[in-house]
Amino acid sequence: MQEMYRIAVLPGDGIGVEIVPEAVKALKAIAEKFGHEFVFTEALVGGAAYDAVGHPLPDETLELCQNSDAVLLGAIGGPKWDDLPVHLRPEVGALLPLRKELGLFANLRPCMLFPGLIHASTLKEEVIEGVDILVVRELTGGLYFGEKTREKTADGGQKATDVLSYSTYEIERVVRFAYEAARKRRKKLCSVDKANVLESSRLWRETVTELAKEYPDVETVHMYVDNCAMQLIRNPKQFDVIVTENMFGDILTDEASMLTGSIGMLPSASIGGEVGLYEPAHGSAPDIAGQKKANPLATILSAAMMLRYSFHLEEEARTIENAVRQVLIEGYRTPDLMEPGKILVNTVEMGDKVAEKIREAK
Ligand code: NAD
Repeated sequence: MQEMYRIAVLPGDGIGVEIVPEAVKALKAIAEKFGHEFVFTEALVGGAAYDAVGHPLPDETLELCQNSDAVLLGAIGGPKWDDLPVHLRPEVGALLPLRKELGLFANLRPCMLFPGLIHASTLKEEVIEGVDILVVRELTGGLYFGEKTREKTADGGQKATDVLSYSTYEIERVVRFAYEAARKRRKKLCSVDKANVLESSRLWRETVTELAKEYPDVETVHMYVDNCAMQLIRNPKQFDVIVTENMFGDILTDEASMLTGSIGMLPSASIGGEVGLYEPAHGSAPDIAGQKKANPLATILSAAMMLRYSFHLEEEARTIENAVRQVLIEGYRTPDLMEPGKILVNTVEMGDKVAEKIREAK
């Protein structure tokens, strides 16, 4: 049965315009192979949009995203726009409102070590071999969104306050999502909090404990965030799905990303509303932009996440991931992953190799 999916394509700035076409190439190969129809509509975002129309998130771009089934984003920002007023800077003026408008409350970052890349990590092979973790971070609540105040104190100094609050509803929706994801994986959920100290964490833990009753097929573990930070380095293979609040997730996902070696390999998905947003974890890499040196694999893997989480096309998602795995096993490397004895390819050649493997897949 042929199905039609509308995909908003926002290449953005810097290497965004080089890597996004390679992910589109992979999606087109999937469409051909599995008989789906993907309709791609491109729009401006970030510095490119500011240059063209004076705002990093034009109304038409937001409307396009809201009317699509999913959004594929490259990267935004760069030195050219760094001195603009804060509300017009690409990251603040485009990325945050886009996440907010689309109601993206869960950020997913899989940390998977691809077989050919074991030497790219700074950790020992025996520790990271076989690592496959999905971190689910709450994205629109907690400390980053709480009330912030400053006041003068009697001694002439200042006092600053950031409010950390979570409601049952906010916790439940992201944890439920993590349980559903765990069900499709190895059925282990580690909920990370600081319930020995924080009231918001106690509510977090109580809510997870309640929800666990609905998911008896998933093993639930609670872990304090400081212990989790240590366990991620000591024995990362113990984790399947990790779910946590906004700030803990911010810190733990950066830590976990280092288990996989290169920033050019890390996809991400932001989910919650009707429309999911899929983008590589890295930025616009102005230092290598326009040189065909960028690794497109994080963006291609983000496209695989789109198939899995927005379109529920699991086999198609795996086909992309297997194609990436195959290309790496065969030794093809963009400059960021290059090591002696491997075959150096540019951004486009890497995208071509992945598309070829998708078409060849059994
Ligand atoms: P960056 O991730 O763009 O680059 C960091 C380093 O990693 C650079 O040396 C770069 O060459 C390299 N790198 C990144 N992606 C790569 C890839 N796919 N292949 C090969 N090498 C890659 O981070 P930065 O330099 O701190 O930021 C550059 C710009 O990107 C800034 O304007 C920043 O605000 C923006 N940014 C945007 C996003 C986003 O769009 N979501 C995220 C982070 C940073």
